[in-house]
Amino acid sequence: MFDQSCDTMVALPSATASGQTLFAKNSDRPADECQPLELHARIEHPTESVTHCQFVSLPEASVVHRHVGSRPWWCWGYEHGFNEHQVVIGNEAVHSKFEPATEGKLIGMEVLRLGLERGSTAREAVSVMTDAIGQYGQGKFENDAGVRTYDNGYIVADPNEAYVIETAGHEWVVKRVEDTIGISNVHSVETDYEEVSPDAERIAVERGWWQGDGRFNFAEAYCGTERTEGSGVSRRRRSCALLSTRVGDIEPRTMMAILSDHSDAVNPDEEFQTDLRQGGICVHFNENGTGGNTAASLVSDLCNDGSRLPVYWCSFYSPCLGLFLPTFIEGQLPGALGVGGEEPSVESPWWQFHRLAHLVREDTENRVGLVQNQWAMQQRACFSGTYAVAEEGKRLLDGGNTDDAEDMLTSFMEDSVRQMLEATDELIAYFADESVVA
Ligand SMILES: [Zn+2]
Repeated sequence: MFDQSCDTMVALPSATASGQTLFAKNSDRPADECQPLELHARIEHPTESVTHCQFVSLPEASVVHRHVGSRPWWCWGYEHGFNEHQVVIGNEAVHSKFEPATEGKLIGMEVLRLGLERGSTAREAVSVMTDAIGQYGQGKFENDAGVRTYDNGYIVADPNEAYVIETAGHEWVVKRVEDTIGISNVHSVETDYEEVSPDAERIAVERGWWQGDGRFNFAEAYCGTERTEGSGVSRRRRSCALLSTRVGDIEPRTMMAILSDHSDAVNPDEEFQTDLRQGGICVHFNENGTGGNTAASLVSDLCNDGSRLPVYWCSFYSPCLGLFLPTFIEGQLPGALGVGGEEPSVESPWWQFHRLAHLVREDTENRVGLVQNQWAMQQRACFSGTYAVAEEGKRLLDGGNTDDAEDMLTSFMEDSVRQMLEATDELIAYFADESVVA
């Protein structure tokens, strides 16, 4: 069975080169689980409407914010996403000491979606999420649907601040981020929290997980895994080291490099590793095609001064073998990005990148460099154009030219997707033909 992984990080304005918040997430999932990217328009709901999550139903919000989510094809919730108010959230699987619950709870990804749908600031999303966790619970629970369940960690960010939430069942803790932070598959919030659920300490004492001396330590009391060893510990050490040694200089490219990194973190400060060895923040399937793989990635470049629109760079499947596609929440995200289900399909960009990653693995030595060079070239070419569009889009919207702004952004995203898919198709055709000849 695949051991759930993921990495999420944030650099606040004090830590970045541009003075804007940068958020990054690798969503690591079972190697063949398609994860499309979807836009959901803002919706107003009549009172007494109900939100139906998979195992739990809860009262609907009167307004659900416009948002984009990266969604495992079978799930209502998201691994990461962003909304019209520049709230961006990513999650992590963590494991607490609680035995599996026997009744249905929220899935961690559903809690994330509730935060995006209902939070207009990071602080507000944190309240929505911690209220839902307290009331409905999450974490490991038995179910007949074959859903893998686990406790969760989150980073919730907006242009001005960011929070880490970590959970155990119905209990939670919230830490406010200063400068930079990375989280992974291990509880990390100890005594340095801003808020903790009202019953967390009492329950921990009753269970014998906390002795009641000094300030309550959430991670020490609830973390059910080794907190000094393991993949999550080393990936977290690596992301935190890469960020903290670059405070003041962090750019979108830095975040993309971290998400694509293959260092095993024996020396957390070493330079970025771009080979395809196992280990590192970029996760790859095993030799036999099983295990986990990074399914989708996001680098959000938010904006706190109104000078441009926020830019959301999205990648599909292995970030080290893909392009970070520039997207905006304004305009229409191309519907093609939302195509993809259980079975492989050439109509699905996600499945095309899945195919490309498998073809690369047939001849790793020769193909990795070729693919990485192709995307590096394309990535460089689209950077300046993207930020020009972000400024022009903001100018048009501020001037009340909403239709012009949306048309421009929509056609920009359509062109970007088309160019990405043409390049993907060419690489696939090239490698697939070579395989036939070989
Ligand atoms: Zn990789």
